[in-house]
Amino acid sequence: MIDMQDVWKTYPNGTHALQGVSLQIDRSEFVYVVGPSGAGKSTFMKLIYREEVPTKGQISVNGFNLGKLKQRNIPLLRRNIGVIFQDYRLLPKLTAYENVAFAMEVIEAPRKIMKKRVMEVLDLVGLKSKANREPAHLSGGEQQRVAIARAIVNNPSVIVADEPTGNLDPETSWGIMQLLDEINFRGTTIVMATHNKEIVNTMRKRVLAIENGHVVRDQLRGEYGYEF
Ligand code: ADP
Ligand code: ADP
Repeated sequence: MIDMQDVWKTYPNGTHALQGVSLQIDRSEFVYVVGPSGAGKSTFMKLIYREEVPTKGQISVNGFNLGKLKQRNIPLLRRNIGVIFQDYRLLPKLTAYENVAFAMEVIEAPRKIMKKRVMEVLDLVGLKSKANREPAHLSGGEQQRVAIARAIVNNPSVIVADEPTGNLDPETSWGIMQLLDEINFRGTTIVMATHNKEIVNTMRKRVLAIENGHVVRDQLRGEYGYEF
């Protein structure tokens, strides 16, 4: 599903954020990306959804060779990847329904199927009854659920989540993890950067540890491995 070959990322200011990363992530895998602040986790995630491009090396995601991807095909790639952020990034003036529908409008999904599909994913995340609320009238956990609904509405093959529980209390975080686990169980590949030791040590999925731009550990049913 995701294949990286000797991937380097050097930012224009000279920071070597990733230094020779090679790995494969298979369809339906759930992968935690851990490591200290500044290690390169966000850069790794951004390369997958092509927010950044590698300075050197090859990345393919779901059969798209990102190095050869034409500008006009970027929307096609993005439709295959759902992205979730720590700070939710919902549009504040739109309701939960409209935030999710917007993701379908962007890819020009047929209007006829839109309403049904949006309500279906809002139901899946447990927010059908709050479809008409704006983000400011939802709790943090509920806002993240809307963001998850938005991420899955177009049936992506991969979900990239950058510290999705970073702003949530432990109980709410577990609710979000349950939801992501269920989405993964239905076949979606999930790559999630996290500092949540308890979640990583309880869920026991594949763990990639990144330090100083290098993958220093890659374990199936791995552990968090840090004290922070
Ligand atoms: P993490 O997500 O593990 O905290 P990042 O990928 O955000 O790590 O950052 C890796 C390194 O690259 C850090 O030294 C960070 O300061 C640097 N960095 C990240 N984004 C940029 C950028 N846009 N320009 C310059 N340096 C950056
Ligand atoms: P995240 O919450 O995704 O880990 P970061 O804190 O790593 O975000 O970065 C926030 C934004 O600032 C990103 O767009 C990143 O590319 C940029 N950034 C991070 N570190 C640097 C840096 N050293 N110089 C310039 N931009 C940076």
